[in-house]
Amino acid sequence: MQRSKIKKILECEQAGGQFTVSGWVRSVRQSQNLAFIDLVDGSSGAGLQVVLEPSIKAYALADSLHTGSAVTARGTLVESPAKGQRFELKAEDLVLVGEADPETFPIQKKKHTLEFLRQKAHLRVRTNTFASVFRLRSYLSHAIHEFFRGRGFFYIHTPIITASDCEGAGEMFHITTADKKHFFGRPAYLTVSGQLEAELLALGLSEVYTFGPTFRAENSNTPRHLAEFWMVEPEMAFYDLQDNMDLAEDFIKGILEYLLAHDREDLEFMERWYQPGLLGQLESIAASEFVRLSYDEAVKLLEASGKSFEFPCSWGHDLQTEHERYLTEEKVRGPVIIHDYPAAIKPFYMRLNDDGRTVGAMDVLLPRIGEIIGGSQREERLDVLERRIRKLGLDEKNYWWYLDTRRFGTAPHSGFGLGLERTLLFLSGMANIRDVIPFPRTPGSAEF
Ligand code: ATP
Ligand code: MN
Repeated sequence: MQRSKIKKILECEQAGGQFTVSGWVRSVRQSQNLAFIDLVDGSSGAGLQVVLEPSIKAYALADSLHTGSAVTARGTLVESPAKGQRFELKAEDLVLVGEADPETFPIQKKKHTLEFLRQKAHLRVRTNTFASVFRLRSYLSHAIHEFFRGRGFFYIHTPIITASDCEGAGEMFHITTADKKHFFGRPAYLTVSGQLEAELLALGLSEVYTFGPTFRAENSNTPRHLAEFWMVEPEMAFYDLQDNMDLAEDFIKGILEYLLAHDREDLEFMERWYQPGLLGQLESIAASEFVRLSYDEAVKLLEASGKSFEFPCSWGHDLQTEHERYLTEEKVRGPVIIHDYPAAIKPFYMRLNDDGRTVGAMDVLLPRIGEIIGGSQREERLDVLERRIRKLGLDEKNYWWYLDTRRFGTAPHSGFGLGLERTLLFLSGMANIRDVIPFPRTPGSAEF
């Protein structure tokens, strides 16, 4: 059977075509001996109106159709006399594929709270909101691949199981089997970042990116943190920090442009229901120049702000979300890149600056979200890198392969990590990161 997607049908130039469509009933009403079904199949936010006339056999099914029922309809596309849509499908046949009992199906055609829907994560894709968010997520993933493909980057896959702690900190999930102490002959973890392995491949393929799931056991129950999230990590040989910041800025703008061009419909939906002014904000950021501030300058601005922050800001401490949001939302009113952070608060692999107290790190901050990208120029000098590893109390032996790349053909290189869900929060206007991933994993919660 040749089935058509509703999105394609709604794009038809003229009436008259014969179509078979399958989908779910969003609503159904009967009036003047006719049954009107609003049918969706996920391909678009707009539904197709399917009209059942008493003259067809399937009309007898009208009373058994409810919100959530799965159906297949066959019929002719005709001009719609109703307002708000150009075409409707005059059904010749309809099959009820799967029933949905209105007494028990939880997703009825009324506005449910996002909190309620989080508990129904297995069914929430049936709402307009989550169908939009998950379509945007797919377009965002395409945008990422398109951007890098257009620049000749290679898509690589870094391991999910690792034996190295990328950050030199805790916050990792340990993995093994129930009956073995160390399945891999050593402690192993779920990766917190593919960076170290991406560096190995960049020092050979020159420009690469990895895009996959990462895991952090941090016990932070915030609207911005997940225990399992997706990260995009480009890594580039022969890039210094400046090149890295330029790429990060182009990357964010490129993504915004792609979404505005390819899925305006869902952005408009989110603007209407969740984030007034969304499209204007995305368009203006896509056309803007990101302000760049050194960490020193950022701290001075924060100290001079006259704001009473929960955590006062002073040189040598990491910026808190409240500081990031002040800079990007109040001070600059646009994207900000902060660079050259104190070495003491950053991991061992970041390149030590000549001042001996800062490293070539950079974070990109966006209004509403705060940090969306964290990156750095990597330390390519063997002796400096070894000193930092020792100073931080890490075991050099675990990094012999990483250090080897600094022994053989070492080269300046840089990279960054962009959180997919943070990006989608920004694009969709959603406020809670649990609402932009289909099945969120957070402390104490891994249902579905
Ligand atoms: P934060 O300070 O916000 O906790 P981080 O400094 O730990 O983030 P990085 O290690 O720099 O983050 O990771 C790169 C990017 O990954 C971040 O800029 C952010 O977009 C995303 N990210 C980091 N941790 C999480 C998380 N727990 N859940 C979702 N996204 C995350
Ligand atoms: Mn960071």
